Amino acid sequence: MQKEGITQEVNKYVAARNACKLCAPLGASMVFKGIEGCIPMIHGSQGCATYIRRYLISHYKEPMDIASSNFSEETTIYGGNKNFINGINNIRKQYAPTVMGIASTCLSETIGEDIPSLIAEYKELNANDKDMPLFVHASTPSYNGTHMDGFHEAVLAAVRTLSVEDKREKRINLFSGFISPADIRLLKEVMNDFHIDYTLFPDYSASMDNPCWKDYHLIPEGGTSISDLQKTGCAMASIELGTVLNKGSLSEMVLNKATVTSAGEWLQKNYYIENHAMVMPIGIEATDRLMSTLSTITDNAIPGKYTLQRGRLVDAYIDGHKYVFGKKAVVYGEEDLVIALSLFLAEIGIEPIIVASGGESKLMRKELMKYNAEAFENTQVLSGADFETIRELSHELKPDIIIGNSKGYYIARELKIPIVRVGFPIHDRIGGPRIKHLLYEGTQNLFDLIVNSLLDYKQEHSPVGYKYM
Ligand code: SF4
Repeated sequence: MQKEGITQEVNKYVAARNACKLCAPLGASMVFKGIEGCIPMIHGSQGCATYIRRYLISHYKEPMDIASSNFSEETTIYGGNKNFINGINNIRKQYAPTVMGIASTCLSETIGEDIPSLIAEYKELNANDKDMPLFVHASTPSYNGTHMDGFHEAVLAAVRTLSVEDKREKRINLFSGFISPADIRLLKEVMNDFHIDYTLFPDYSASMDNPCWKDYHLIPEGGTSISDLQKTGCAMASIELGTVLNKGSLSEMVLNKATVTSAGEWLQKNYYIENHAMVMPIGIEATDRLMSTLSTITDNAIPGKYTLQRGRLVDAYIDGHKYVFGKKAVVYGEEDLVIALSLFLAEIGIEPIIVASGGESKLMRKELMKYNAEAFENTQVLSGADFETIRELSHELKPDIIIGNSKGYYIARELKIPIVRVGFPIHDRIGGPRIKHLLYEGTQNLFDLIVNSLLDYKQEHSPVGYKYM
């Protein structure tokens, strides 16, 4: 059996060569964009905020206001408290946010900035201020985790800061992970169809996918409301989409050896709210699992419309099977997304020969084997991978298709094979935020995209060409 890890080739290099991961405060910024009335502020140098804004704009094609405390040489030596206070004052004057999401950077963490103390100092200096915003702080040094660690760290930080334990209500917490705005809308539709009150967090389905405005909106509409975040403390259950989540190193550092690594686990440990962590619902089996969990928690039958969607998906699997069966795929991206996509590929008869992520939980193989040991016995599972390693191994193993974000395009181009773009970032196409990946509907979309990409390739490379299949 293959062991999870990086291949020998990568061991020749000390540095990552085109990392298959992004920066931790970027993940935290996404979460802050999913809180109603919130402005993210990066405590560190201007370049970190610019990098994050550039990445998010290229994918979401939306205006992206992310503030920075703008470290200089002097701040780096003497500390950033003056910049922190000035920054907060400027942001409040300009945006009047109800929440400020503060994420640290490599630099501010390295010089030991104590952000909780800076927040306390700010509040003390403005003790009589009746409009004081709420503060959520996530510790996100990028040398200690990926954008996904930053994302889940911010989810955990928001829940720890804002949840209020109260009498149990018939409601569910849904921690949906780093998914597309279109997927968030699909999940909300499911929750409404199950007739259950819920807190979906983070909800950037509106703030990162705006309609066309006549006038500029300093803080776009949408986001999980503070009251819904407070109610996470009185839900009857939590559902987390993903099983790796924040099992990188950030959480361990913040909570100092506590076993709690995610918001769902924290609520379970502190308020005894049952937590259901599950593989992201891509494919029939994973979506069935979510549907049946919702049905059990709510005591409601699965709505008929989903039974129909499932039936149509099974029918599509049958129609497309002969075009996908036995094909070999490379899958890369965030660990939880990659696990869900790989299980879906195995479900439709595609062999994932390389499964790679820049995440370093080293849990991917274990998770894959748990659900389908036979399919992943010979798979190369790469943790902490960079794109050069994926490229070199792809040349060796000769896949038929590549599935992942835009950053792997050059590998597909070199190998002259199709790429199906999923996840984040997609910066060489439009429509990234509108890609549906989840549930029966999203799976149907992915299945059609994959089959048609393979057909397109076959048609283009056929010596005679054809118009009918
Ligand atoms: S990796 Fe560190 S230094 Fe680079 S942009 Fe991210 S936080 Fe800033």
